[in-house]
Formats: sequence, C-alpha cells, structure tokens
Amino acid sequence: RESAEISIKDLDQIAKSSFPLCMRHLFEKLREDHHLKHGGRMQLGLFLKGVGLKLDDALAFWRAEFSQKVGAERFEKEYAYGIRHNYGKEGKRTDYTPFSCQKIISSTPGVGDNHGCPFRHFSEENLRAALSRMGVGTRAMEDVMDKVRNRHYQIACTLTFEAVHSSTCDAGINHPNQYFIDSQKILQS
Ligand code: SF4
Repeated sequence: RESAEISIKDLDQIAKSSFPLCMRHLFEKLREDHHLKHGGRMQLGLFLKGVGLKLDDALAFWRAEFSQKVGAERFEKEYAYGIRHNYGKEGKRTDYTPFSCQKIISSTPGVGDNHGCPFRHFSEENLRAALSRMGVGTRAMEDVMDKVRNRHYQIACTLTFEAVHSSTCDAGINHPNQYFIDSQKILQS
C-alpha cells in the first residue's frame, strides 16, 4: 500500500492517534528506554517504513534514541546497519515488507522483548491498562477482552480501532499498516 511521506516531528502525534497497540507500545518503549531489542527494531522499523518514514529520517530517529543509551558511536557500529538493511540498503538488498498481524501474532517474544501482539502476548492486567490509556471505555473493553479470551486477536484489535475512532471498520484489521491508513482516513475526513 502506498502512503504519504511523514517526517520525524509528526511521529509522536500520529503514534498517539493512529498506531495500533502493538506499534504504540514499541514506540513508547523506545522513547522511554532509548532502546529496543532486535525483534522490536524489526517490527517497529518496518512499520515506520510502511508509514512513509524515509531512510534518512529513520536513521535520525533511531540514532536520537539509541545515542542516549549506547552513545552515537555504538549506534553507528551496531545498529545503523540493521536500519539500512530494513530499507534494502545492506546485505541482500531485499526491500523488506512490514509484518502482517498474522506474523506478529505468531511471533514468540522472550524476556525483555517488546515486540509481538499485545492482544496475544500481554497479561490481562497489562492489556486492560494499555487499552484504557488508548481511551477504550468500560463497555468496549469487555467486548475486547471477550475476543481475547477466545483467541480472536485481530477481532479484538478491530473492536479497539472502532472504540477509539468511534467509527466502524468493516474490513477488519489484518495489518498494522492498514490500521494506520484506515485511522488516518477517518481522522482526516
Ligand atoms: Fe498489531 Fe495486528 Fe495485534 Fe492489532 S492485531 S495489535 S495491528 S499485530
């Protein structure tokens, strides 16, 4: 899917308004810890590419965060390659596509990882807290938790989308970048 170019200064605002929970969580963790493990860097990095963040801006964005934790030199040595790699500028030069919900849901985050799908991988307590921060009300929350218990994670995400946008999402959510595009369509209309 095509999407417009975005710049670094818009990121905080669009993360709040239009990122699905999986990406919001990674984005907030990165801002908080100035670091993400490999799985998180892949999942968020490719999503941001899909959202329209160009390579130079992506490097500047990740450098600004990681430098606070590991220093600029270590960022260049150990992490810049992975970002260029996501954009197909290193290694086999494959232009990697952002992960689908199915791929994210079936991933297996370990201790200290922040990637994955919160509907599947968060504890009930953490999921409720995160949904509440997104603005999901009591009634919608119970509908979402009901879908989660029945392992219908993408439907839970669709209900979340509908709750925070006060709008229907007939197609259902099957890709984080689709969530973003549909959200922007609603917010800009
Ligand atoms: Fe992300 Fe998809 Fe899970 Fe929603 S259902 S949180 S978009 S992986």
